[in-house]
Amino acid sequence: MNIHEYQAKALLRDYGAPVSDGRTVTRAEEAKTAAGELDGPLWVVKAQIHAGGRGKGRFAEADAGDKGGVRLAKSVEEAADEARRMLGRTLITHQTGAEGKQVGRIYIEEGSGIERELYLALLVDRVTSRVSFVCSTEGGVDIEEVAASTPEKILSFSVDPAAGYQPFHGRRIAFALGLEGQQVKQCVQLMGNLYRLFIEKDCEMLEINPLIVTDGGQLKCLDAKLGFDSNALYRHSDIAALRDESEEDPKELQASKYDLNYIALDGEIGCMVNGAGLAMATMDIIKLYGAEPANFLDVGGGATKEKVTEAFKIITSDKNVKGILVNIFGGIMRCDVIAEGVVAAVKEVGLSVPLVVRLEGTNVETGKEILNSSDVNIIAADDLKDGAQKIVEAVKG
Ligand code: GDP
Ligand code: MG
Repeated sequence: MNIHEYQAKALLRDYGAPVSDGRTVTRAEEAKTAAGELDGPLWVVKAQIHAGGRGKGRFAEADAGDKGGVRLAKSVEEAADEARRMLGRTLITHQTGAEGKQVGRIYIEEGSGIERELYLALLVDRVTSRVSFVCSTEGGVDIEEVAASTPEKILSFSVDPAAGYQPFHGRRIAFALGLEGQQVKQCVQLMGNLYRLFIEKDCEMLEINPLIVTDGGQLKCLDAKLGFDSNALYRHSDIAALRDESEEDPKELQASKYDLNYIALDGEIGCMVNGAGLAMATMDIIKLYGAEPANFLDVGGGATKEKVTEAFKIITSDKNVKGILVNIFGGIMRCDVIAEGVVAAVKEVGLSVPLVVRLEGTNVETGKEILNSSDVNIIAADDLKDGAQKIVEAVKG
């Protein structure tokens, strides 16, 4: 689960990390008062959306002006004007996709004088199964590009979970970032605080880009992105409360309400599968036969008819879906339950695209009977390969 920059900065502040003072506004009329509570001479007006690259982004509407989603203002009035221009408008960045995201909230911050822009991240490294620090002197710009063209400018190392964070980790980062004197001490403390936040709140990702050296020589977190392990949210009600459902894919949101493991993708073949491994294999084989999956969906082991119905409805609500492949290997999951769910869903929402069904395992005969005796138009498949070929053929002709 991701949160907004202003929420991330509040957490950073709680953990003693240096951030600027700021205020959020959701209505243009509040902007002037909010900016007036902050000290000048510079104000930063920042669109709050769950996507990076806001500074380099552009608004869809002409009256938002030709600047991106991070704007500098030299007076309270100017800050209020910029907030008004951005609120309610659609910001398009390289992370939002072409449709962009509507800006419902603005964060106004006291502006900082910047001497250097650095990069810092903490993440769970799947190779070492440890938490890793990643840092670079090349902050502020796309770190992906630095990683691709000048990987030597990125330092990354993991922390032994038994020993935890040690001051030498912080010193290593400080020297890699070219910090000097008091800054080294500040860095050692800041990294320790960030590591503590990361562990205590079960983060998946923490990115400060840029981490700056101010014109006064101090370290400061100018931007903040925090992602949390959704499986650990049950023990962090404070973090769960920060969830902004308006930022999530409506299909994924609906799926999470029914406890379905669903991830929207951008292909044309909707998949309903049981078991994560089989779902992955199904996506692979769809690709192998020349099409792209529209989603990952694992309905799980003990899915009910209602859950299957909901899953089917979510798949068909995706405008990109040109065909559906149901691929079930009934172990704990019973084929008749799947069949009932499919029939119920088709009755409720109709079926306007080809549907290929491959059932195998527990109660397979009952399942097939339910499908055959319904008036749902089904292309039956014998195995995974046959199913994938048939759905790709039905979609591509
Ligand atoms: P992002 O574009 O979504 O990553 O948003 P950031 O918060 O990283 O801001 C983008 C850029 O705006 C930063 O890299 C800075 O160059 C600039 N910026 C942000 N805050 C300030 C500030 O307080 N003072 C100055 N001078 N520039 C800022
Ligand atoms: Mg940034």
